[in-house]
Amino acid sequence: MSEVLRTHTNHIGQLKTKRDSTILVSEKKKSGKSDKIAIYTFVDAFGWEVYKKYGFLNKLMPNAKRLETTFGFSSAADPSILTGRYPDEHGHWSAFYYEPNTSPFKPFKYLSMLPGIIFDRWRVRHWLSKFIKFAYGYTGYFELYSVPFAKLPQFDYLEKRDYFVPGGILKTDTIFDWCVEQKIPYYCSNWRHSEETVVEENKAEIRKGEIKLAYVYLPRLDGLMHTVGTNDIKVNEKIRWLEDQVTDLYDTAKEHYDDVSLYVISDHGMANVRGSIDLIKKIESLGLNYGSDYIAMYDSTMARFWFPNPDARSVIEGCLEKIPEGSLVSNQELEKMHVPYQDAKFGELFFLMDPGLLINPSYMGLKVIPGMHGYHPNDKDSFASIISNRPIPDEIKSITDIRKTMQKELEMYAHGTVHAYQ
Ligand SMILES: [Zn+2]
Repeated sequence: MSEVLRTHTNHIGQLKTKRDSTILVSEKKKSGKSDKIAIYTFVDAFGWEVYKKYGFLNKLMPNAKRLETTFGFSSAADPSILTGRYPDEHGHWSAFYYEPNTSPFKPFKYLSMLPGIIFDRWRVRHWLSKFIKFAYGYTGYFELYSVPFAKLPQFDYLEKRDYFVPGGILKTDTIFDWCVEQKIPYYCSNWRHSEETVVEENKAEIRKGEIKLAYVYLPRLDGLMHTVGTNDIKVNEKIRWLEDQVTDLYDTAKEHYDDVSLYVISDHGMANVRGSIDLIKKIESLGLNYGSDYIAMYDSTMARFWFPNPDARSVIEGCLEKIPEGSLVSNQELEKMHVPYQDAKFGELFFLMDPGLLINPSYMGLKVIPGMHGYHPNDKDSFASIISNRPIPDEIKSITDIRKTMQKELEMYAHGTVHAYQ
């Protein structure tokens, strides 16, 4: 599309009258292309520090900003991106939460009597997770990780529904719900497909020239950096490969749209691991009973406790306070970080490791791995990023602001009428 026409389109957009939308349509016919698309490529764990080290299509996408992430893991951050709200508003935080009454894992107490050697294998657990997902009809992401079978009946699982489809979030809506409501055609990737397939599927949708928003979901950088850390040559190779995919999407879009807004976004960063502690051993040496005295969920960077026996709290608190590799998180801090902590569903007591240190073994894994996230959001390696060919306004500071940029990009299509857009 010529610069003249682009300027003209923007000008029309600012006039805000019905007649202008008619002009827009006729302009579209002249150029033979659709008017505009916004492509958001989600790259899991492509945090600000990783971006600073490797860059990303610096010429095509010269605008980049550091974004605050949410406290917790992807199960908290990804819904925050899609809803534009914090966990204490949308209700999603940690995948496992204490709820023995509704636990779908009650039968697991029998499996726990079988030798752990079979079921502790990652592959076996992965297939078992797939079976449970199928048996219970879960449509969201489900993984048993390394939660011991004997402990599973204490917990329920949050992401039973796929929140990438409309109506999938517990409370509030997502950008996709909004698009449906506003009748704006969009395409969201199928996260079950490989990255190569996701790119091809997005290109196929873009070629139709109908969608106004494409959400390209590329999560594999996260897994790679968990396995090799952030400094390995493979990380550079992966990021260069991601650049090729985004360029490919952009070139495809330019053939079918006059105007292409391009964004690369992430949910959090990645820290290199420098050590670990055996927290489970320390807690188990206190002589308390798991189940009747306390319940614990050991995530890789934090531990959460519940106390069926209130007297157990001070014993565990006393133990945690003496551990130099991490610290207790106060309710005040949880409140500040927008964690839904009040109903104690996600924990009555939270212990967070210092950046780069792991709880190992944990219920998330049995090995020390080179990269991890899920530390305090203020740590430099926790920050996410947004990269674009469009200027990023000053008020965009957190991953919860990404949705604002999406709605701004789509504003001209809202309710089928043309609104101000600059
Ligand atoms: Zn991860």
